[in-house]
Amino acid sequence: MIRRISFWDQVKRTFNRAAEFTSYDPDLLKQIRECNSVYHVNFPLRRDDGTIDVIGAWRVEHSHHKLPTKGGIRFSMTVNQDEVMALAALMTYKCAIVDVPHGGAKGGIRISRPRYSDAELERITRRYTYELVRKDFIGPGVDVPAPDFGTGPREMAWIADTYGALAQDKLYSLACVTGKPVGQGGIRGRVEATGRGIFFGVREACTVGEDMNGLGLSPGLEGKTVVVQGLGNVGYHAAKFLQEGGAVLVGLAEYEGAIHNPKGLDLEQVVAHRRKTGSILDFPGAENIIPSSRALELPCDILVPAALENQITRENVPRIQAKIIAEGANGPTTVDAEETLTSMGTLVIPDVYLNAGGVTVSYFEWLKNLSHVRFGRMEKRFDEDIHKGLATALERMTGQRLSPKEAAHLASGPGEESLVNSGLEETMMTAYHEIRETRNRLDRRVDLRTAAFINAINKLAVTYESLGIWP
Ligand code: NAD
Repeated sequence: MIRRISFWDQVKRTFNRAAEFTSYDPDLLKQIRECNSVYHVNFPLRRDDGTIDVIGAWRVEHSHHKLPTKGGIRFSMTVNQDEVMALAALMTYKCAIVDVPHGGAKGGIRISRPRYSDAELERITRRYTYELVRKDFIGPGVDVPAPDFGTGPREMAWIADTYGALAQDKLYSLACVTGKPVGQGGIRGRVEATGRGIFFGVREACTVGEDMNGLGLSPGLEGKTVVVQGLGNVGYHAAKFLQEGGAVLVGLAEYEGAIHNPKGLDLEQVVAHRRKTGSILDFPGAENIIPSSRALELPCDILVPAALENQITRENVPRIQAKIIAEGANGPTTVDAEETLTSMGTLVIPDVYLNAGGVTVSYFEWLKNLSHVRFGRMEKRFDEDIHKGLATALERMTGQRLSPKEAAHLASGPGEESLVNSGLEETMMTAYHEIRETRNRLDRRVDLRTAAFINAINKLAVTYESLGIWP
């Protein structure tokens, strides 16, 4: 019988593997690895029909080395303490890898979302927030949730509203949660941030000629074939930006089944088809793939699992044909499957780096809420005036006229969304090369995930060592 290693044990295993390449005190490593606080609560929900359900929920703060802690809240029947602990730990390492100054956290409510009405979901979310407030597990300087599987801007708005009603620190209360609608203190670019970050990360990996040659691929994203599993927030936006960036979507998978067309699928048309028929299946020109999980085994250059954890396992890994696994979801590849992938020469771009776009832009949203000013508000007009002056001087000195397009581009000043996207791009590009450098420094004895964890451990250790209590 195959014994499944728990998600939390998998994260610890990866940590331990990376820690072997460092020389920190074992107790310091233990302090970094373990969860600082775990809160489990059960509360009653009065259903619309008058009956009562008891709802189980968790919030785990993995590391208080930098405050506030940060991490999403998921609504799913898979939620349990092990899963929330694992995801909270991944958040700590993720923040460190992309230099976001937060500790990691995660929340989860064990519910099957479709079973509940909107009114019931609102009561669940508000009661959960109330429980977090009571135990000091939420606040702008304490712990700041965000969306995850099964939650989005609407749930974040309920959390902000409930927290604001209860909080003492009303001036900063909007900073208690990120991923809010823009009208509620959210930031432009947050909804698509994780998918956009995946695009930047994959694009960056594809630019490295040496790595692409090793995989038998040409450098660049243009023309690379892609299969995406999950068309939710992360999967849809990753697919959208990859397609816009020149990649060809050949397979798309949802829970009801998958579709395949080696010539390419138009994402927006597939989404419209699903909206109309309730399924991605029977999309014109595409072959149906059932069960959906078989989509992971389709021939392609890049596979983006962006639904749930434990999708690439010891069982299906020998049939995976993709040269690059771009982990959109958290924990989609099990530890033993990854060992096989590494021996097959597959490049795994790990979740702990690749899906950090969401937390990066969440950090920008939190900064915006604390500063009470939209990014770009102070400098946009000022920059535009300077740029216009430069363009005029350029025309005068060269005796040539800029085209209207060039003039408009030169004269534009930064708005919130362009600043957010540019900050995200810079973050993802820098972090990718830091990870790659660590891998190369160790003569490729480690994969990118281990290298990313080594970088995270080094950054966390600096903070703990400054306390002066470890040798
Ligand atoms: P979501 O709820 O918006 O989307 C998940 C999608 O996956 C849904 O469309 C669902 O129908 C589909 N799905 C579920 N089971 C499936 C299956 N067996 N096969 C194919 N499709 C299936 O969730 P999300 O926010 O996109 O999160 C997806 C993953 O990305 C999770 O692992 C989450 O932890 C991770 N993540 C999310 C964010 C974020 O900003 N939302 C950030 C980092 C990581």
